[in-house]
Amino acid sequence: MRKWPETARLSQVEDSKGPLGWGLCDPHSPLAIRILSLERQAPNHDYFVSRFERAWKMRDSLRSPETNAYRLFNGEGDGLPGLVCDVFDTVAVVQFDGLGPAEFWDRSLIADWLTQVAGFEIVFEKTQREKGKIEQLRGSPSKTTVTISENSSRFEVDLENGQKTGFFFDQRDNREFVRRLAKGKRVLNLFSYSGGFSIAAGLGGAEQVTSVDLSEGAIVLARENWKLNGLPEERHAGICADAFAFLKDGQRNYDHIIVDPPSLAHSEQDKPAAKRKYIEAFSSAAKLLRSSGELSLSSCSSHITFADFFEMIDEALSLSRRRGQIMRVSGQGLDHPFPHACPELRYLKFVHLILD
Ligand code: SAH
Repeated sequence: MRKWPETARLSQVEDSKGPLGWGLCDPHSPLAIRILSLERQAPNHDYFVSRFERAWKMRDSLRSPETNAYRLFNGEGDGLPGLVCDVFDTVAVVQFDGLGPAEFWDRSLIADWLTQVAGFEIVFEKTQREKGKIEQLRGSPSKTTVTISENSSRFEVDLENGQKTGFFFDQRDNREFVRRLAKGKRVLNLFSYSGGFSIAAGLGGAEQVTSVDLSEGAIVLARENWKLNGLPEERHAGICADAFAFLKDGQRNYDHIIVDPPSLAHSEQDKPAAKRKYIEAFSSAAKLLRSSGELSLSSCSSHITFADFFEMIDEALSLSRRRGQIMRVSGQGLDHPFPHACPELRYLKFVHLILD
């Protein structure tokens, strides 16, 4: 029997009949092998570069003067297990999903391709372990805040102190949907972060938008982003508060409430408690909606399936004694592909309802 490696490395995968392909063997993770390729030849630099080019091409329809920020590499979804890269105009931010991928991937290969072929000016690595730690891999010294465009809305992103790599690109299409519905509405955006949905609603003509987030920094950014888009200050309230407490004290005064909590289930064991939290947030939000009000509900936890999500919505509506019609069911945008054999990576759920 072969010895299990001490650090992550390229390994051939075989069954009793012979070789199957190649994988990233990770001794630090419950995911022992993450498949890289099913080819006979071991994947080399050229192979990885061909995956980078494929990922680049897949985003051709997204890249435009109106949208200059998106996810370029989405791990397994782009055949690049554990490798994430988000781009912010001329800046690329690389992140490795765990210790194994951080040991395995060749930073120089990635950073050289990003600068020399894709043309980014600066490449950062954001480490997951030390929260917020950012290292510059390429480019001359620069500041760590950037202004990006998403469907012509503008956002200031704090790459160093922001959450994940700085911005949640996965909700782009859902923000655009919210923008189309917003005219004349009173909108409450819970778990707003830097105001993604709030700015979308504001630009869509909402009468009043309230952003609620526990993080002071997120609310400061949401206020700045509101101004950056030329929206009138008196139409936005940024509130630093616990969304659950805010919902308890709130008035029944909204035409549209958006509920996009952080991942409440980090493991299968967390799931029952997380489901109760989601149900609490969704049902309390439903209670604060005016008649014919609209509810956008989301969950980004991969442990919560679409089936779980619909069950939670059922329960939440029943608790709030409201009935609803579903107008949209969606998830992550095209820059977050997932392998068809790996539905667990279809992690984002978004359901929009109109209540009676
Ligand atoms: N909808 C956002 C992303 C939300 S991320 C977008 O489109 O960009 C989840 C947010 O929930 C984070 O900003 C985090 O600070 C916030 N958060 C976590 N727990 C919270 C709580 N109990 N009350 C309010 N906000 C909370």
